[in-house]
Amino acid sequence: MKFCIVGAGIFGSTLARLIAEGLHAEVLLLDARDHVGGNCASYRDEITGIECHRHGSHIFHTSNAEVWNFLNRFTIFTNYQHKVFTRHAGAVYAMPINLLTINHFYGRDFTPNEAAAFLEQEKARDAVAEPANLEEKAVSLIGRPLYDAFIRDYTRKQWGKEPTAIAADVITRLPVRMNYNNNYFNDTWQGLPREGYHALFVNLLDHPNITLRLATPFAKVRGNLDKDCIIIYTGMLDALLEYKHGVLEWRSLRFEWETVPVQDYQGTSVMNYADRDVPYTRIHEFKHYHPERTKPFAYPASVICREYPHTFSRGDEAYYPVDNERNRMLYQRYLDEITASEPNLLVGGRLGAYRYWDMDKAVAHALDLFKTRLAGLPN
Ligand code: UDP
Repeated sequence: MKFCIVGAGIFGSTLARLIAEGLHAEVLLLDARDHVGGNCASYRDEITGIECHRHGSHIFHTSNAEVWNFLNRFTIFTNYQHKVFTRHAGAVYAMPINLLTINHFYGRDFTPNEAAAFLEQEKARDAVAEPANLEEKAVSLIGRPLYDAFIRDYTRKQWGKEPTAIAADVITRLPVRMNYNNNYFNDTWQGLPREGYHALFVNLLDHPNITLRLATPFAKVRGNLDKDCIIIYTGMLDALLEYKHGVLEWRSLRFEWETVPVQDYQGTSVMNYADRDVPYTRIHEFKHYHPERTKPFAYPASVICREYPHTFSRGDEAYYPVDNERNRMLYQRYLDEITASEPNLLVGGRLGAYRYWDMDKAVAHALDLFKTRLAGLPN
């Protein structure tokens, strides 16, 4: 076997397909878990038939035509458009912050220009020339009162740190709009795989050159690989080197699942909880992702899950890399050492790259790695 990919998430699975198809080479794809899709995986709940996202809501969105065209070979995407709401002090508001949120919060009926002028005054009260962290950045975008209501405590729960200790660009994931557009994303294309993420991954990996082995840790097969086998490793780099320089910091999540005996529990797919007195950050209600599936949608019960962020310890599932100086340096140290000692090993994916990537960025990096590092190799 010439290629071995460690991790059947969206990065590893995309690369397996590209190698199998583009190089006509055999690929061994491993995953320690017993399912494909990594953190994007979905399954159908046996009782209700609802498509559930195993590791929290995943909505596909991109402005990258190459990524969009590639994935459209393996699924039809629905026209689902993500809308999020947030609870604060006994009321429900629209997220991301848009004209509806602003008017509702301030009890006003601003036009777009009026809202922009009003927010300029709010922002001027706490003006920071160069925002250096999440709090300063958020206040510079929306002013202190909206920040205190919708961002401060949610962020504390999400990251387990003060927002002043979090990288500024985390907050720029969220749009701020002076109109009533309540779409959570700004991208050109958006949707959900019509038959679910699991089916998308099954199609992606359905190629005679791909051998998939689930529930198989890398350590179990590593010694049996050919000497010249090219390994693409998408797991955590500190784990690969047995944490010899220390543990990379991640934020982990715990999901509390419940099937509730009501047709519609919260009226939408994601409800955020902005306040500190509620210990979870959000509740996902999965049937809202597929309203076109009329039977599960009408079923008189619903599958929900509450999301609780927590500190990562070795052995936990890693979700969010914690971007700061210490972690960047530690990551680089592991990467340099691996690059020097393992010329046949490439790294990638959200875990391997230690980057807060959305699904489309992971696919884009797989396409790029294939073109720049693998496409010219003999099979
Ligand atoms: N965020 C917030 N309040 C919200 C939603 C998001 O403060 O209601 C902040 C929080 O710091 C979070 C960041 O914005 O980590 C990015 O949010 P996003 O929804 O993109 O995070 P993800 O879906 O990747 O968990």
